[in-house]
Amino acid sequence: MANDPMSMRPDDPRLPTEPRYARRADGMKASEIRELLKVLNRPGIISFGGGIPDPALFPAAEAKAAYSAILSDPAQMTAGLQYSVSEGYEPLRVWIAKHMGSLGVPCSPDNIVVTSGSQQALEFLGKLFLTEGDTALVEAPTYLGALQAFSAYEPRYDTLTPEKGNRTPQSYQEVAAKTGSVKFLYVVPDFANPTGETLTVSAREGLIDLARDLDAPIFEDTAYSALRFEGEPVPCIQSIDVARNGGDINRSRVIYCGTFSKTLTPGLRVGWVCAAEPIVRRLVLIKQASDLNTSNINQMVMYQLAEQTYARQVDQARALYSVRRTAMHEALLKHMPQGVTWTKPEGGLFIWLTLPPHHNGSALLKRAVEDYNVAFVPGSAFFTGGAGANTIRLSYSLPTEAQIHEGVARLGRLLAD
Ligand code: PMP
Repeated sequence: MANDPMSMRPDDPRLPTEPRYARRADGMKASEIRELLKVLNRPGIISFGGGIPDPALFPAAEAKAAYSAILSDPAQMTAGLQYSVSEGYEPLRVWIAKHMGSLGVPCSPDNIVVTSGSQQALEFLGKLFLTEGDTALVEAPTYLGALQAFSAYEPRYDTLTPEKGNRTPQSYQEVAAKTGSVKFLYVVPDFANPTGETLTVSAREGLIDLARDLDAPIFEDTAYSALRFEGEPVPCIQSIDVARNGGDINRSRVIYCGTFSKTLTPGLRVGWVCAAEPIVRRLVLIKQASDLNTSNINQMVMYQLAEQTYARQVDQARALYSVRRTAMHEALLKHMPQGVTWTKPEGGLFIWLTLPPHHNGSALLKRAVEDYNVAFVPGSAFFTGGAGANTIRLSYSLPTEAQIHEGVARLGRLLAD
């Protein structure tokens, strides 16, 4: 039909099926990080881009032995290569429940569902809580991958400022009520991606108070929490909330998203959610519909890696990243021109730079890659509303100390230029 808005002209460059995509597809764009990753293999480039673990840390020998032992034993082979239950491999769930206990969250395996990385947990939580027009409360900046996971469910975003004191619950509710309601608060409380910053205990308590007044859950994304190099440990939000509820996880409103990606390896794609049982049961249904189960052999291997190497791996990761964080901090002190400020994280993989207001991180990246052979992530990618043009994220997880010094010197020359 000529007047059908879906009909296409012969010169339309889109695929014939494109006009039939769901509306949510409109918001799905290739991220700046992915575009950036294309140049990272170029010889000579020093990348402070992706926040990925150093493969030198991977427990490869132990993984090899574990896969081999499983595949050599007929019963284990069958379990490993077969479909499996959606909630996850039981011994791994027992290990995770015990681990959560050590973080101040007494719980049982019924409070745990294994996910394919914590990224899948974020996607499932978006699916479970969001109807189009609902409000998701997030920090600005926040983890880009969480925004991508949530955005498929067409929320609007409003901003949390946990350290400065949040707005009143009424104010959040009033704004949300125009199109939906406040459905959750999402935070990365420790060594956050992208800022490297950690929420104080009082900020965590303030978030729990706000969540209580809004009658909404908190999604606590702990991807980097185990990687503390220095300073006093801060209890996880879920442990504070569980303690407030008489030690009963099943009365907690905090949904904890954990992962082995930054401590053991991201390659097996194993993460978890720890939450009240009714929430876990819902997530198991979503998991069933999404991918039936996380690879069982990978969960079996991850269980063995966790049993045998978790403490050692965490120690090694902390030691390595701590040295690189310090190298980057020193290099920044030496090479950054006046007017540039940055965070000094006590753990994790990232430092966040704020440049003088006239700078634009995206424009700088182009010049950095083309003329200076150095890469980073422009900060605006981590904001929902286009702010943060003069910010950039640097990761120190992969380059050596010498590369960190050289790469930051290059950045300094670019900024002084
Ligand atoms: N949360 C944060 C804050 C992250 O930075 C990442 C990975 N970059 C994830 C979640 C997802 O990690 P994974 O799916 O490997 O557990």
